Amino acid sequence: MSKISDRLNRLSYSQTFVMSNKARDMKAAGIDVISLTLGEPDFDVPQKIKQAAFDAINENYSHYSPVPGFLELRQAVSAKLKRDNDLDYKPSQICVANGAKQSIMNVLLAIVNDGDEVILPAPYWVSYDEMVKLVGGTSVFIETSIDTEFKFTAEQLEKAITPKTKALLYSSPCNPSGSYYTKEELEAIANVVAKYPHVTIISDEIYEFINYEGEHVSIASFPQVYEQTAVINGMSKAFAMTGWRIGYSACPDWLASACDKVQGQMTSGANTVAQRASITALQMDPLELQYMITEFHKRRDLVFELMKDIKGFKCNLPKSAFYFFPDISYFIGKNLNGTEIKDADDFAMFLLENAHVGCVGGVSFGSPECIRFSYAASEDDLREAMKRIKDCVEKF
Ligand code: PMP
Ligand code: GLU
Repeated sequence: MSKISDRLNRLSYSQTFVMSNKARDMKAAGIDVISLTLGEPDFDVPQKIKQAAFDAINENYSHYSPVPGFLELRQAVSAKLKRDNDLDYKPSQICVANGAKQSIMNVLLAIVNDGDEVILPAPYWVSYDEMVKLVGGTSVFIETSIDTEFKFTAEQLEKAITPKTKALLYSSPCNPSGSYYTKEELEAIANVVAKYPHVTIISDEIYEFINYEGEHVSIASFPQVYEQTAVINGMSKAFAMTGWRIGYSACPDWLASACDKVQGQMTSGANTVAQRASITALQMDPLELQYMITEFHKRRDLVFELMKDIKGFKCNLPKSAFYFFPDISYFIGKNLNGTEIKDADDFAMFLLENAHVGCVGGVSFGSPECIRFSYAASEDDLREAMKRIKDCVEKF
């Protein structure tokens, strides 16, 4: 009998970390690996935010904060949601957690019973399916493809809803596809969900600011689903604060108090110094962060030009976030240099071992024919990585 619980035995390791650890180990062994695995901005935290953290330490913010976060931080989140998303949330509706990852988990723990269904449009972010398993739910997938920018439609959603559906969980802008949903698309989705009051939307908007073409719209801004929506966001992507571990949820009252209850038993709230620094971050004019977006935009265009020329890679131009998610089904079923390629994970491993470029296979994103590259890396590394892959696959 396993000493580890069945619940945990059902779980997989996060593939993003598995691949980034492999790339790190190879580097440590002296191999010149370019890792485009983990999705995290490669910029430093803006100086103002760092200064606010130093000040918080000096001002002795060293005790527990209220479980859902300092009131000043929840006021700053509330003001940000109004300023950027035209959303009305009182501070009591906000729950600050240790990253958006925990915010999503709080909401799932708050609403999912054993056997409940959670709809995940594929491709989805790796942790969604595993989190659903952890809370005893069952994921129901909606299939999409590169030809429609990996986007699901309101019609597909309606077909997937059953009496057991508890939630729809997706990200827009999307990790891994880099697509975002327009106002019209979201309105159509909102209209469907509004017909089914037992369904809650968990709208992960962590890549909100990293959008090169369109305007980010939050689905909670459609009044017909405000009472049915949990908005998830955080500091990791827009402020390059991945290690500071601050995320938040904004929910209708009934769900906000449930998140507070979960968190009060699990973590007692988030790190106080990082919370104080986040107040300063959220009060910054988003234009002050534009330099990062401009840089990501340049890199996206560069990678697109280079990737188009790689044999067997079918790619679209992602409009947001910082990922490419090419379809590499051309290589599936082939034997490359003695390596049997059964799915995209095998191909990702083949690239790591043969081209010394790290990426993440699409199996755990729900797309076993795609691989994900993060282009939050230097231009030199991106150029070199694409050249290595091109040279490596040319002969097959
Ligand atoms: N949602 C998505 C779509 C992500 O890509 C990530 C990755 N960081 C998260 C949530 C979790 O972010 P955090 O660092 O705030 O936990
Ligand atoms: N969100 C990032 C990614 O998808 C960070 C790693 C993780 O949390 O899974 O690569």
